[in-house]
Amino acid sequence: MKYYSTNHTVPEVSLGEAVVKGLAADRGLFMPERIEKLPKEFFDNIDKLSLQDIAVRVAESFFGEDVDQKALEKIVRDTLSFDTPVVKVEKDIYSLELFHGPTLAFKDVGARFMARLLQYFISKKRDGKTVNVLVATSGDTGSAVANGFLGVDGIRVFVLYPKGKVSPIQECQFTTLGKNITAIEVDGNFDDCQRLVKSAFLDDELNSKMLLTSANSINVARFLPQAFYYFSAYAQLKALGKEDDIVVCVPSGNFGNITAGLIAHRMGLPIKRFIAANNANDIFYNYLLTGEYNPKASVQTLANAMDVGDPSNFARVLDLYAGKHEVIASLISGTTFSDAEIAETMKECYEKTGYVLDPHGACGYLALKQLLKEGETGLFLETAHPAKFHDTVVEIIGKEIAIPERLQEFMKGEKQSVAMTSEFADFKRYLLNI
Ligand SMILES: *Cc1c(COP(=O)(O)O)cnc(C)c1O
Repeated sequence: MKYYSTNHTVPEVSLGEAVVKGLAADRGLFMPERIEKLPKEFFDNIDKLSLQDIAVRVAESFFGEDVDQKALEKIVRDTLSFDTPVVKVEKDIYSLELFHGPTLAFKDVGARFMARLLQYFISKKRDGKTVNVLVATSGDTGSAVANGFLGVDGIRVFVLYPKGKVSPIQECQFTTLGKNITAIEVDGNFDDCQRLVKSAFLDDELNSKMLLTSANSINVARFLPQAFYYFSAYAQLKALGKEDDIVVCVPSGNFGNITAGLIAHRMGLPIKRFIAANNANDIFYNYLLTGEYNPKASVQTLANAMDVGDPSNFARVLDLYAGKHEVIASLISGTTFSDAEIAETMKECYEKTGYVLDPHGACGYLALKQLLKEGETGLFLETAHPAKFHDTVVEIIGKEIAIPERLQEFMKGEKQSVAMTSEFADFKRYLLNI
């Protein structure tokens, strides 16, 4: 299958090229040339399949032409070493828990899949060269990518993060791993980290001496696998007899997660409509209201992984619906919530139902409380484990919460990082000397 750019000004590329390059040469995002409708029998029997079996079928539809069948099945099964359970929170509202992976956030699915697919492609043609993955992070992406690539042969990962600006729990998830993961603590902010990474990709000398690639969220190998758990959620609701009039609500930042849901819908998944829940960063919400897309600087909120002022995957949403605002606005509704509303929701939900929400999931839950209609079944994506935001959550709900063992394991490890200035010359010298 070929992949085209959402800017449509460069030729289509192969899957291998799309995965290694990440972004198209015209700065557009890659999209699959075809989105196959899955047969009725698949949906009729889906409630009898596991997440892993469902994912193998969905993955074949995108990657089957380009990846050997046995290898693809192994990639999918290795990626999904955990489940994505649907849990009832209250009447008509269910949580799709995406935090059961190694770093306790949904990004584990895409990052683990991408690591394995990249390894598949480079092992075919890298001639023994090591591939160097550079990733800048403000928190969750670094841990998911680092853990996704941990121990993967032929790949070395450099996680650049801003010194003193990520939470201690987030930091330990990529600084204590060792092996093929190197954490680089940049004396600067997130934008500096991102600039160092971008400059490295543009530097001729570096690129002639080493193989560099990026692992950010616009990569098709991170974005498409997120469709797997939408199918699995439907299967689980169907097993409960709740497969009619499903409304899926996605706490959104860069819009990669919800776009994977829209792709699943295009493949025939019976979802009635979507809600994109935003925090105070309300660019998409305003687009739905006005038809105008006006990016702006992001503002910091309690749901910090959704603090995005110019969501990259908006280009993919537009592309899926040929830019038609009325089509997009009839399928997707929007909401925007303040920190006060997020906190109040976390507290209220806990007091009334006993369910502990993280600040991102809280946006999804509240959107359903406000927009779900009689007879509909609401499903929100719980995108991270509340313990990742331990202090915030405890302060808001007024009760201690348990920290899962796999998170505690990270916290026991010894921090190892390389100190770096925010000067590109220093970063370049470091890379050339490894
Ligand atoms: C990244 C992230 C989001 C936003 O997902 P997008 O795909 O960028 O819309 C939401 N919640 C959590 C916990 C995240 O880490």
